[in-house]
This record gives sequence, structure tokens and C-alpha cells, in this order.
Amino acid sequence: MASIFTKIIKGEIPSYKIAEDDRFFAFLDINPLGEGHTLVVPKEEIDYIFDLNAEVLADMMVFAQKIAKAIKEVIPCNRIGVSVIGLEVPHAHIHLVPINTLGDINFSKSRPQISKEVFEDLSQKISQKVIL
Ligand code: AMP
Repeated sequence: MASIFTKIIKGEIPSYKIAEDDRFFAFLDINPLGEGHTLVVPKEEIDYIFDLNAEVLADMMVFAQKIAKAIKEVIPCNRIGVSVIGLEVPHAHIHLVPINTLGDINFSKSRPQISKEVFEDLSQKISQKVIL
């Protein structure tokens, strides 16, 4: 069965899209640690990130770099933190999280409520800044 991220990539379920190319897709995390928290996924559905082909893994990080630069232009922050968890969704993904302190990338913390309007605004503003 296709993963929820494959369904997002195929447009079968909605997402707040940031960008895509032929191999990767970026969209806002629906339950974010904070505004701008974005997921970068390979279109190829592989569960564990370190099972990806080495070239795909390297290129995924370069794609993530372009997304991170765009997020940083929109969200005031010290830097974009990077994390890989993968315990919830069995489709490899990189979390990009705007951070100022270590606590901002604590996945155990309670998540802020973000309205549909704010998600839409963030996705529009960040996607406009992406240069692939
Ligand atoms: P993990 O697999 O532990 O790295 O966590 C998966 C992440 O995917 C969580 O931060 C979820 O909030 C996020 N997530 C799950 N379903 C969706 C969805 N439909 N759209 C956007 N983000 C999602």
C-alpha cells in the first residue's frame, strides 16, 4: 500500500506544497514544531533513509539545502535545523525546522496550533523563494 507521503506526492491527498523536482518533494509538516517546519521526501518510496541509493541520498540533501534557504528567507530564525526520525511514517524524509534554541527542535514538545490560512500563507511565501 502506498505511504501517506506517496499519496501526497501523487496529489491524492492535499498538502501545503513547497517545491518538487523529478525526484524530490517538499511540503509543510501538518503537525509542525513551529512555523516553516518542512519535510523533504524522495519520490521513490523507501522507508529507511539510509537504504536510499547513495547518490539519491546526497542529492536529497542538496535539494533540502535549497528548501532550507527559502525557509530561512521567510521565517526569522538563527538557522534551519535538520533531523531524521522516521518512526511515524515509513517513507524516508528529512525534517527542516527553523530554530533559535535547542528546544525548538525537541520532537517531544507540544506543537503549536497553526491555522489553514497561516499554512497556506507560509507555503505560498516559502515556495516563492525556492530556487531549484
Ligand atoms: P517521523 O516519521 O517520526 O519523522 O514523523 C512524521 C512526520 O510527518 C510528523 O512530524 C507528522 O506531523 C508528519 N506528517 C504525517 N502526516 C502528514 C501529512 N499528511 N502531511 C504533512 N505532514 C505529515
